[in-house]
Amino acid sequence: MIGKDAVEETAYELTARASIEIPDDYLAGVEKMAETEEGDLGRFVLSSMLENWQAAKEDRRAMCGDTGLPRYYVKIGNEAAVEGGFVALETAIRRATARATHEIPLRPNRVHPLWRTHHDNNVGINAPEIEYSFEPDAEWIDITTVHKGGLFGTDYRMLFPGDGIDGIKRFFLDVLVSFGKRGLACQPAIVGVGLGGSKDISMTLGKQAACLRPVGERNPDPAIAELEEELKALGNSIGMGPMGFVGSSMVVDCHIEVGYTHTGGMPMSVHCFCLSSRRATARMFMDGRVEHRTDPKWFTPYMRREGVEWPPAAESLKASG
Ligand code: SF4
Repeated sequence: MIGKDAVEETAYELTARASIEIPDDYLAGVEKMAETEEGDLGRFVLSSMLENWQAAKEDRRAMCGDTGLPRYYVKIGNEAAVEGGFVALETAIRRATARATHEIPLRPNRVHPLWRTHHDNNVGINAPEIEYSFEPDAEWIDITTVHKGGLFGTDYRMLFPGDGIDGIKRFFLDVLVSFGKRGLACQPAIVGVGLGGSKDISMTLGKQAACLRPVGERNPDPAIAELEEELKALGNSIGMGPMGFVGSSMVVDCHIEVGYTHTGGMPMSVHCFCLSSRRATARMFMDGRVEHRTDPKWFTPYMRREGVEWPPAAESLKASG
């Protein structure tokens, strides 16, 4: 049994880690970009960010004044059990968010959309968001927190199948140029693309692609992996770089996730996980162990399952090569 107090302590610790320490994969990606960036201002921004992350780590303070919106992704092993059930788990996560907001501290960004009232703790109606997925044959739960910044760094377009790959590239470029020009979502960003699904799932997949896959990880479908590389290169070739200044460091990485969609359309979303790509994960085991990491490991083969059976029947495995 996974204790509810342990869930609260773990969610609190994750919230602190995510707000203060930039994940290694994103840091390595920006360090690599700093070596090749030729724009003067772009280079300056990248080196300042590297100093800023180091200072945040040493001082144990949030890496950006806008501490974003804490949200949580919970992957539940099919054999796992939580003391008090999943209502207790949600209570623990909400308590951890409120406490962390005061103690780390985080900026209390969450307000009522109409009255702008707030509880001064980043908790409210439908906040923080908690999304769930499941994993077969597992006796643990994974909790990931993401503090998404870049209030405006998201867009959506309903494409037609005939728009094809060219239409995907066009929307991708439209978004990055527009965000760069208007100073939305501090770049370089991890750009997530959601393709297909219904409209809401397209948005969900794109956000998860941006926030839950580490820099350098490719989609297992080789053709999609190739498109990820192509979009990344395209995004870095538009002449805008860090924070929209002249340069070539706009996209640290591009991740695409797909979902089966209506035959008449191809919904597409684009999401930018900004310079403060804050995420942290912990795996909680039934025997009380807790293991921390920065790779959420969200998109498992089970998440991307295609057929009816799990595990896939031998014939369908053969058919898919
Ligand atoms: S977009 Fe990201 S880096 Fe820029 S101010 Fe917002 S949270 Fe901070």
